Amino acid sequence: MPAVRYRYRAYPSPGQVRALARAFGCARVVYNDAIRLRDTAYAAGEKLSDTEVQRRVVTLAKQTPERDWLAEVSSVVLVQACQDARRAFRNWFDSLSGKRKGRRVGHPRFRSRKDNRQSVRLTRNGFTVTARGVRVAKVGDVRLVWSRELPSIPSSATVIREADGRYYVSFVVDVAGEPYPAVSADVGIDLGLDRLATLSTGEIITNPRPLRSKQRHLSRAQRALARKRKGSSNRRKAARRVAVLHRTVRETRRDQHHKLAARLVRDNQAVYVEDLAVSGLARTTLARSVHDAGWAMLVGLIEEKAARRGRTVVRVGRFFPSSQVCSVCGVTDGPKPLPVRVWICAACTTTHDRDLNAARNILVEGRRIVAAGRAETENACGADVRPGPVPAVGVEAGTQRGAA
Ligand SMILES: [Zn+2]
Repeated sequence: MPAVRYRYRAYPSPGQVRALARAFGCARVVYNDAIRLRDTAYAAGEKLSDTEVQRRVVTLAKQTPERDWLAEVSSVVLVQACQDARRAFRNWFDSLSGKRKGRRVGHPRFRSRKDNRQSVRLTRNGFTVTARGVRVAKVGDVRLVWSRELPSIPSSATVIREADGRYYVSFVVDVAGEPYPAVSADVGIDLGLDRLATLSTGEIITNPRPLRSKQRHLSRAQRALARKRKGSSNRRKAARRVAVLHRTVRETRRDQHHKLAARLVRDNQAVYVEDLAVSGLARTTLARSVHDAGWAMLVGLIEEKAARRGRTVVRVGRFFPSSQVCSVCGVTDGPKPLPVRVWICAACTTTHDRDLNAARNILVEGRRIVAAGRAETENACGADVRPGPVPAVGVEAGTQRGAA
């Protein structure tokens, strides 16, 4: 069953705020301890089982004077922090050994008290949904605003404190699929920087005007923050203003992404997107990482909605230089400097918009993968086409792969 996230604003009482701060703190310490322990074990060539890690950083740690306060929070929170550390460590490890494809995953970052966003994860036995909100173990009944109905009992909950001081609870709910009737259309999407996306149909989706003006406000506030003296109360105020503007930008973008994802899934049987994890785009600037986060959110929403509506999403590996290959005749026309938005194919003389050509290449590649998947699963009682990672189509060393 497809899993969907439901997020609600939470209003913890002052006592609950303190209890949550304790839970955030304990989860952070356990997470960091688990990473450190795994690092040490790895360096010493010692093999530790997951249960052994948990025993040491939770069960045994609670019995030491340095960590006895871990007993003040729900053990569900600590166990989840352990699990998060395990996943982060494994991702890094698999990436090092080449078992994990795609963008290099770095060594897990240690969590800090100064992180803007704090959160704890809870499994089924760590919370209960009530009429007024959610009962969290060792925190109490936290009031939520039920802005929409939860369709069923959630399988997990995350309590979040955002940088602007607001609290949220995000539930993961398994929902029954409500498939749309089949359609024949499919679409390739190229994600861009100045445009949000270019569709293989030729449609261009720009960032909405309110988002752009909010982003301008945000960057002005960020510059103001940078000028404030460290530790001053003016700096605190400026930081809060940045956090609030961040939220409005995020909410405006989320709203746009929801609408776009819903439309793409409704109108197309299959949606092909580039696999951001393997896009190989250098994340050198802040702007870039912000965009990356935005793209990941859009692609995540498309996948979530598609799973529920019986549509197919294929992530196309960007190993092939989609801005260099002519989508009409398939000739590789060599690298183009990033500012080149329009080019003419030397082989077939088609005039290409760089982004549209990339979207069309993603469409072609996506169709090829679906067809290959179908051929593979033909005898498997009509199993769902859900292709795995795409094999590399050959990287041209040394050529500039633009952000087209
Ligand atoms: Zn051509």
